[in-house]
Amino acid sequence: MKIMPNRMDYGFFKYQDEFEQKVLSVLRSGRYVLGDEVACFEKSFAAYTGAAYSVGLASGLDALWIAVRLLGIGPGDEVIVQGNTYIASVMGITINGALPVFVEPDVYYQLDADKIEEKITKNTKAVMVVHLYGQVADMDKITRLCQKHGLKLIEDCAQSHGALYKGKMTGTFGDVGCFSFYPSKNLGAFGDAGAIVTNNACLAENARVFRNYGSEKRYYNKVVGANSRLDEIQAGLLNIRLAHMAEITAERRLLADRYSAGITAKDLVLPMERECTQSVWHQYVIRTGRRQELMDYLAKREIGTLIHYPIPPHLAQAYAGLGHKRGELPVTEEYAATVLSLPMYTGMRVEEQQYILECLNSFS
Ligand SMILES: *Cc1c(COP(=O)(O)O)cnc(C)c1O
Repeated sequence: MKIMPNRMDYGFFKYQDEFEQKVLSVLRSGRYVLGDEVACFEKSFAAYTGAAYSVGLASGLDALWIAVRLLGIGPGDEVIVQGNTYIASVMGITINGALPVFVEPDVYYQLDADKIEEKITKNTKAVMVVHLYGQVADMDKITRLCQKHGLKLIEDCAQSHGALYKGKMTGTFGDVGCFSFYPSKNLGAFGDAGAIVTNNACLAENARVFRNYGSEKRYYNKVVGANSRLDEIQAGLLNIRLAHMAEITAERRLLADRYSAGITAKDLVLPMERECTQSVWHQYVIRTGRRQELMDYLAKREIGTLIHYPIPPHLAQAYAGLGHKRGELPVTEEYAATVLSLPMYTGMRVEEQQYILECLNSFS
């Protein structure tokens, strides 16, 4: 049995008729960018998250950098972010000329709330929390810290659509929640797409203007903006997937439970769910000191696994200019050296997961 780390086709075939009909109806509508499907998605996505407003954008990275820009953060400013994130979180900061200040993760792979305060300086403007792997950061502590120090709070929810902290959805705790709908995400489009959610009417309006060359009215440009428009086909397809999100999330939670109950192999560190949170398991990430050996062993049995992520941003070549050294973020670096993501996707068959478990448990 050949198993890939992700199967985006399964997620398509599950709702194939709905997706295909939607594409045809958009093609026949004559309206292809920022139309009714986008407006409908923005309304439904805001309602889904519990935020007052949602603005559709072209990608998750755009959501991040545009949010940072519209919060007035730029050169000379510092933004606190966890060390173990996808590099896009960090680029959302540095595109604006601001400096990322890295903080170590906790045992749930999330920004360690107890290590934030020591990194705050007079230049700190914001905290960017990334709900990595679909798990949830300690939002009570983090929101309290941001209030105490007058910092903006940005949530990178590219992996956490639908994840809950005390019943409240990630993305709605701070000033702005930034989402990606890249095809592999839990709420995936069939191309690039993203959005912000916010309760700030002014910020939402500014994002709406910014994404379309800074124009409020056609050819009347208020500010220097960008082209970060969401198109009708992606929004239409997202409307369909969003209607099935409860089912999609429940399935991932079931798959994660089966992994957690089924893995008996010793020396593997399993992921934990923080109290009072509901993870949406974008990835099911284990840890082992024998990672390469385990990957090779599984690959020999046609089971594909991935590493999220092998090189932490502070050690990426792209950020060599920041002058960070290996050893500066020991927890982040330890995770980068030992994490392994097991296959996890909508439509995973019971036999597939059983085969993965059998192989894992016979690894010794
Ligand atoms: C995917 C991802 C992004 C970027 O989203 P794109 O749509 O690919 O630009 C940002 N942050 C995290 C944590 C991600 O996983």
